[in-house]
Amino acid sequence: MCERCQRDLTDEVHHIVPVSQAPELVFDRTNVIGLCRRCHYGVHHLGESVSEPPPAPAIPKPDELDELAEGRLRASQLIG
Ligand SMILES: [Zn+2]
Ligand SMILES: [Zn+2]
Repeated sequence: MCERCQRDLTDEVHHIVPVSQAPELVFDRTNVIGLCRRCHYGVHHLGESVSEPPPAPAIPKPDELDELAEGRLRASQLIG
């Protein structure tokens, strides 16, 4: 599990102190963190912090929720 967002599977290992700055820490467990692809990309390319979890996923808009509820209603009518 990604150690940052706790949502996605760990895909990649990130070095907290870049290996270019501290080659001796390359195998140091305290210097590595398992991240999902999304978090790893964010940390490297979007200036996000490893210690800060990413923003929550967008919540569905109210009209989308209505559609979901309608879908459930229709499904239950079919069954009933
Ligand atoms: Zn993640
Ligand atoms: Zn990295």
